[in-house]
Amino acid sequence: MKTISNIKIQEDLARVFKGRIRLNESLAEHTYIKIGGPVDLFLNPEDIADLRAAIEFLNKADIPWVIIGKGSNLLVSDQVLPIAAIELNNDFFQQISKRDNIVYAAAGVSLARFVNFNKSQGLAGSEFLAGIPGSIGGAVFMNAGARDLYSGSLEKICSIADITVKVQVMDKQGNLRIINKKDIKFSYRSCGLDEQIILAAWFELKPGVEQKIDLDIQVFLNNKIKTQELCLPNAGCIFKNPAATKVSAGALIDQASLKGLAIGDAAISFIHANFIVNKGNASFAQVKSLIVKIQETVKNKYSICLEPEVKIWDREGLE
Ligand SMILES: Cc1cc2nc3c(=O)[nH]c(=O)nc-3n(C[C@H](O)[C@H](O)[C@H](O)COP(=O)(O)OP(=O)(O)OC[C@H]3O[C@@H](n4cnc5c(N)ncnc54)[C@H](O)[C@@H]3O)c2cc1C
Repeated sequence: MKTISNIKIQEDLARVFKGRIRLNESLAEHTYIKIGGPVDLFLNPEDIADLRAAIEFLNKADIPWVIIGKGSNLLVSDQVLPIAAIELNNDFFQQISKRDNIVYAAAGVSLARFVNFNKSQGLAGSEFLAGIPGSIGGAVFMNAGARDLYSGSLEKICSIADITVKVQVMDKQGNLRIINKKDIKFSYRSCGLDEQIILAAWFELKPGVEQKIDLDIQVFLNNKIKTQELCLPNAGCIFKNPAATKVSAGALIDQASLKGLAIGDAAISFIHANFIVNKGNASFAQVKSLIVKIQETVKNKYSICLEPEVKIWDREGLE
């Protein structure tokens, strides 16, 4: 990867881009696990036209770029990354509104705000997203979800795909499109829109009673408090649950007696074995080594390959 000549690039970019430009911004400040080196450029576009101006500029200058949400499912190399990270969190990307039972939310809206907005409007159906620390853009991209605690079924999963009606996207050349749900290939922790920037989405909810919605939100939040790692920095579930077995990735790691295993300051959570925590100064390499150790152990014991859920960004390839 070539390095970007920052000052020159900044001057040229500032001629076409209205939003905030930061140089050498540490991604550790933008990831939940608090790991990540500096990226050459960190951009906050003002609106859609500004986003298009940025990507046209970056494409022309041959500078790789990524979209970052709230950084809650990201593991980023702590080396310098000669790329641009684009964050959609300016006011334009924070819009949320409703018409009847349909809620429009732009990419930068946090899931917490989305869930609370729906509650305040007496709209039910998004409570399962309570406690997931992502943005609408990241949640649609990852098809975020949780176990269905409405029905109490341990088998059933609720995911954002269930309530999505359509998604507004921009492709890597800057073209806009609205894609209906039937044309989106949602699957477990994926929406299949890998080549698109998610700008906003429309969600269909059901009329509900605010107190009942609030109770359901509490059920989901309490479950997170009981089962997930909330004290130490982490990146959520490291691995997808394997399709080959009904046993979750966390249960497999637990059964392999790996809970608590540490490499430096990176450790497998005692609370949830599918979470790796940063106990202080964990490095990218330590977390990666722990990931490999878990994969090897689970493969040797159960012949199951655990596939990362967390998105890994390093110099070799931006997943
Ligand atoms: C404590 C904790 C608990 C969690 N619990 C859950 C859970 O219960 N269920 C669950 O599903 N997840 C969970 N997660 C993972 C994470 O919160 C979700 O995957 C979330 O949806 C990611 O959103 P984000 O905005 O943080 O995305 P990021 O982590 O910033 O990005 C994730 C991916 O989405 C892409 N992306 C982000 N925004 C856009 C956009 N606008 N357009 C295109 N691509 C985009 C990024 O490029 C990256 O590839 C948890 C994480 C933590 C830290």
